Amino acid sequence: LNLTAHFTLAELTASDYATRTGIDNQPIDPAVLANLHLLADGLERVRAVLGQPIHISSGYRCEKLNAAVSGSRTSAHLKGLAADIHVPGITPRGVCLRLSAVADAIGFDQLIFEGSWTHIGFPEADAEPRRQILTAIFKPGRPTTYVGGIA
Ligand SMILES: [Zn+2]
Repeated sequence: LNLTAHFTLAELTASDYATRTGIDNQPIDPAVLANLHLLADGLERVRAVLGQPIHISSGYRCEKLNAAVSGSRTSAHLKGLAADIHVPGITPRGVCLRLSAVADAIGFDQLIFEGSWTHIGFPEADAEPRRQILTAIFKPGRPTTYVGGIA
């Protein structure tokens, strides 16, 4: 099922972890399906700005999958509104810098430099994008913390 010209439902729900562990990550909630269309629309804008295909390593996560990968309980991935992306030939930091420069055009809710990937989240249909830009700080044995901007 194509959500937009370049993104399929399969791409936005695929999870190696879910496949490996037998978790059914298919969304059934119509609100999540509607959000996945918003996510695909947002990713189209990202693709257009970067001028090349982007790889999605994690989009929608059901409760079970999100818990299994230690995702935040309030993660936008749970609502189908966020994706973790990689862009061939551009470092995650480079992706974050390029997208943060065009925050208004992309209309992201949150852009997070996660070190080895980029997290991008979009607002729900009736919400304004916060255009929040953060960097995740990972410390072994401690919860992840976030600082403002691209560190
Ligand atoms: Zn993420």
